[in-house]
Amino acid sequence: MKTPIRIGYGYDTHRLVAGRKLILGGIEIPHHKGLLGHSDADALLHAICDALLGATNLRDIGFHFPDTDPQYKGVDSRILLRDTFALVKQKGYVLGNMDATIIAEKPKLNPHIPAMQAVIADILETEIGNISIKATTHEKTDAVGNEESMIVQAVVLIVREG
Ligand code: MG
Repeated sequence: MKTPIRIGYGYDTHRLVAGRKLILGGIEIPHHKGLLGHSDADALLHAICDALLGATNLRDIGFHFPDTDPQYKGVDSRILLRDTFALVKQKGYVLGNMDATIIAEKPKLNPHIPAMQAVIADILETEIGNISIKATTHEKTDAVGNEESMIVQAVVLIVREG
């Protein structure tokens, strides 16, 4: 794998249910519902993991961290992102930039974006200026618009080191 730059795309969705903490971008966001999943269900970090794995052609997050494996029950997805980024570095790449869109009807995510950027930049060993996170609603349509789920899409560019 000698390509100087490589692109990767990731997508994730989780159901939004009562009785769960809302963890997104490695932070807890005050809300009356949270994302449901085997791990902490951090759809943003999962989408970034899949984008990184796509860029390095290393399968997907479910291949590396199966949701049937008890060791990943309730796992902090920051650990999954750190482990995924270690695979990228092993292949000889660093992050160029990451761009994500979170599609969620509620809560308002814009006030929380700088904190998410800081967490992700730290894990991916880059500057905040290389971590873009955008939020949009689903205009009250479909499951996302009915506050039953959230969707995240992410793209990354990785750059060969040296
Ligand atoms: Mg997921």
